[in-house]
Amino acid sequence: MITSSFKTIKSDEIFAAAQKLMPGGVSSPVRAFKSVGGQPIVFDRVKGSYAWDVDGNRYIDYIGTWGPAICGHAHPDVITAICEAAQKGTSFGAPCRLENVLAEMVIDAVPSIEMVRFVNSGTEACMSVLRLMRAFTGRDKLIKFEGCYHGHADMFLVKAGSGVATLGLPDSPGVPKSTTNNTLTAPFNNLEAVKALFDENPGEIAGVILEPVVGNAGFIVPDGGFLAGLRELTHENGALLVFDEVMTGFRIAYGGAQEKFGITPDLTTLGKIIGGGLPVGAYGGRRDIMEMVAPAGPMYQAGTLSGNPLAMTAGIKTLELLRQPGTYEQLDRITKRLAEGMLQVAKETGHAACGGQISGMFGFFFNPGPVHNYEDAKKSDLSKFSRFHRGMLERGVYLAPSQFEAGFTSLAHTDADVDQTLAAAREVMASL
Ligand SMILES: *Cc1c(COP(=O)(O)O)cnc(C)c1O
Repeated sequence: MITSSFKTIKSDEIFAAAQKLMPGGVSSPVRAFKSVGGQPIVFDRVKGSYAWDVDGNRYIDYIGTWGPAICGHAHPDVITAICEAAQKGTSFGAPCRLENVLAEMVIDAVPSIEMVRFVNSGTEACMSVLRLMRAFTGRDKLIKFEGCYHGHADMFLVKAGSGVATLGLPDSPGVPKSTTNNTLTAPFNNLEAVKALFDENPGEIAGVILEPVVGNAGFIVPDGGFLAGLRELTHENGALLVFDEVMTGFRIAYGGAQEKFGITPDLTTLGKIIGGGLPVGAYGGRRDIMEMVAPAGPMYQAGTLSGNPLAMTAGIKTLELLRQPGTYEQLDRITKRLAEGMLQVAKETGHAACGGQISGMFGFFFNPGPVHNYEDAKKSDLSKFSRFHRGMLERGVYLAPSQFEAGFTSLAHTDADVDQTLAAAREVMASL
């Protein structure tokens, strides 16, 4: 709990070397801690609810490799199964029985999914599902929401501009306007804005894609009636509804947000948890739509390593652990203690804050709230969050290095972990 022993000499050395070898020193941008400042930590190993860095510091980890580690890092059953599977080879490039096993588990669990295609990342799943939406409807436009992330494919990298008619301007150099000018955006939780887009673009919109619970703009829940309203609007306009459950799938309930809220989309994307820590994504949905995918149908999409036996094994083992009775109740209980505890500590130390959780997914804003959309989230005190993040890190708590990311717990997190986290939060918040 004391900061004076906190040293990151080896982390700093390794990260300095990494910056000469790889852009920004990382393989994915948010890991570089840019938005909170300070040097990132280089991990050496992970186990259960903990991560150890190369200097030997231990952290209670609330990122869990951004979601997949829901059973706890390096769960012995998952690791053993991966090692056994590896003995038979790591990739076949040919049909493999394990694909059937994971496909059946996904189809049984997720209400909208009647058929599924495995890919290698959430990005690939979202990119492919968009091609499928367009192929099936014969329409080019799509609606996404400000602050929602659907991977880094060109068509989704659209500046979250305000106003209903915001026509996609690319968010990144290298993305031509021609690939994003069919991307329409609306504020999350705003049905009127979606309705206006449908009215302005009659017969042109292939569908609506969203994170049913937003985790990439901080943690934002759908208002009552929002998901049902989208279901109705898409039906009325002959458009498809797509839930991007790469984060929420098997996270907020075994059957994802669609089970939790009782709204069934036409198509769903998955990733993260279904790979059990190995690279996987998937998209699936109504059989009549999925049968358009090659080679059953004409919509082309392929992958050298897709459905490989290692990733399938890690996913199968992880879902087996998750479908044990009581797992989601346990995730909910521990995460509620954490989320409510953080708000309580903020209140006692005089900081405006809001936040919440569903099952093992949570969020916390330095913002009086309520937060209904990205505009609201952006009103948070980012400088305060940066200082909070650093203070927690120095006390052995590893939180997402951005105010605009959700947090995750796992089945390995204990009440003692939560107690220690809240004690650290009390110290840090009192000093802010
Ligand atoms: C993480 C994430 C993605 C992208 O998945 P990658 O495996 O990182 O490509 C897409 N959508 C959502 C909702 C995500 O959380």
